[in-house]
Amino acid sequence: MWRALPPSSARSLGLGRRAHSVNKLQACIAASSVLAAKSFPAASRPTRRHASSTASSPGTGSQRQRSSVRWSSSSVFGIALAAAVVGWGAASVSIWRDGKGSMLLDSFSQPPRYASMKEMEIAIQEIRDELNGEHEIISTDPEDLHAHGYSEWSTTNPETLPVAVAYPRSTEEVSTIARICHKYRVPIIGYSGGSSLEGNFSAPFGGISVDFAYMDQIIQFNREDMDIVVQPSIGWQDLNEQLALMGSGLFFPVDPGPSAKIGGMIGTNCSGTNAVRYGTMKDWVINLTVVLADGTVIKTRRRPRKSSAGYNLNGLFVGSEGTLGLVTEATLKLAVVPEDLSVAVVTFPTIRDAAAAAAEVMQTGVPVAAMEIMDEVQMRVVNLGGATAPRVWQEMPTLFFKFSGTKASVQENIRTVQGIAKRNAGSNFEFAKDALEQKLLWSARKESLWSMLALRRDGEEVWSTDVAVPFSRLADIIEVSKKEMDDLGLFASILGHIGDGNFHESIIYNPINGEREKVEACVKNMVKRALDMEGTCTGEHSVGWGKKDSLLMEVGPDTLAVMKAIKAALDPYWIM
Ligand SMILES: Cc1cc2nc3c(=O)[nH]c(=O)nc-3n(C[C@H](O)[C@H](O)[C@H](O)COP(=O)(O)OP(=O)(O)OC[C@H]3O[C@@H](n4cnc5c(N)ncnc54)[C@H](O)[C@@H]3O)c2cc1C
Repeated sequence: MWRALPPSSARSLGLGRRAHSVNKLQACIAASSVLAAKSFPAASRPTRRHASSTASSPGTGSQRQRSSVRWSSSSVFGIALAAAVVGWGAASVSIWRDGKGSMLLDSFSQPPRYASMKEMEIAIQEIRDELNGEHEIISTDPEDLHAHGYSEWSTTNPETLPVAVAYPRSTEEVSTIARICHKYRVPIIGYSGGSSLEGNFSAPFGGISVDFAYMDQIIQFNREDMDIVVQPSIGWQDLNEQLALMGSGLFFPVDPGPSAKIGGMIGTNCSGTNAVRYGTMKDWVINLTVVLADGTVIKTRRRPRKSSAGYNLNGLFVGSEGTLGLVTEATLKLAVVPEDLSVAVVTFPTIRDAAAAAAEVMQTGVPVAAMEIMDEVQMRVVNLGGATAPRVWQEMPTLFFKFSGTKASVQENIRTVQGIAKRNAGSNFEFAKDALEQKLLWSARKESLWSMLALRRDGEEVWSTDVAVPFSRLADIIEVSKKEMDDLGLFASILGHIGDGNFHESIIYNPINGEREKVEACVKNMVKRALDMEGTCTGEHSVGWGKKDSLLMEVGPDTLAVMKAIKAALDPYWIM
């Protein structure tokens, strides 16, 4: 089955660099059947609203053709399974020669020893023995392994997959899984919405992906205190729908990818379009229940909005990408739904003018609810996606604004921003005409990555990554980065949460004809530029598998050594 695939197919499956390992792979396949035989019953597998389904949903009318369906053929299952086996059989051997793999782990004179194939089997059986009751807890279904180790919208994917996916129903079950994994040194990777973009839930050493799909409930709603206790797999959109249905007058303002869920949002310390007004994930977490690597369960705090008791463990776990513990409950602050909302767009002759206007809005202190930048290419993607049809937007560098508050404050803020836009050559201040258009326009912005994905031709991929800089450097970095990106001659766009000095490049490329290397160099230059401007290699997507080198460049070896010391204290076998 593996051999039947042409190399190009293997590459487009994210397995290209591993293709030379065919012999090793085939040697592993026989052994894998032991695990594969016990797959999770399809009927009881939780349904997941995957971003991919939306990726192909926008109607196009595009000059570019959508890519053909990628993951449905049965041959993929075999490859996924085989790659999973490589995940545990071969990754631990080869990864140490890989510059990326060694960086976060070089405090070890020897790489950590992970479970052998036999030990892995024993661990999985032990988890089943302890936890299988009315439901099957572990899946080794190849499709499942693939969905939990590979991401079509990630900038990078290691060639390995988890060997099993666990579906716990409670903190106690997560604790049991961790305890057994710790005993056998089986890697554990948390998985919530699967929408992260930098290979954050990759399984470079195989191991068990812990999918919280069945832990998606609101546990306690404290309306008077304006907080809520939730399980990790509730999505931020679902949470807001439920709060609206309850007529609570409250909402959770952190808005990353539409399919993101609270556990992963804590993992990446995400943000979104609302961050300019409401801050990022770390600002909304009151208390966390965390399962540590050895199965110990802790709570970071109690329930008051503020506390100065002891170390700020919330700050430690938020943004740790599941490497220090798995979050099984979170107490979150909620915000009051504003009285009035208005959405407007303004176009500018150049991206520099748009960025300069955005910086002035911030420097003037206008409390905009959101301020987003899109270049002319991204506006074209919105039009091609058709989300706001029949309305068509001008394909020019554009700022999107959300104004919220009382009716009077919204009007006043609009007037101030109109003045700033005019001073920076802005024109065509257009307002969404009603609530539906506001919603459509904003969702077109939120789903812009999926709209880009939908424009790929066969074999093409999208590289979408972010950096952030202090406001005053925004116009500089965006102008230079856009020029370098345009010079690649590829379909590429800039967009971002410009109110936070945070912007993204999205570039469509074809890996087969050497375009990936060009794109990678361009992205690395953008990261270096951001660091030279006292910025960060990632404003919100986090480090993942894709930006480990950038993290070292950003913080330096001494700071990284502190991070490693914390990691070693909480996870001595380095399984998370
Ligand atoms: C169309 C689109 C738009 C996006 N827009 C934004 C944006 O505006 N802002 C932004 O910040 N991001 C954005 N993203 C990226 C993504 O939505 C965020 O990174 C989000 O926080 C990931 O959440 P998730 O539930 O999908 O996490 P996952 O992808 O499942 O996991 C993310 C990380 O958290 C870890 N993790 C998962 N669950 C747990 C847990 N229970 N305990 C501990 N660790 C855990 C994982 O191991 C992984 O390291 C976008 C993505 C897409 C596809």
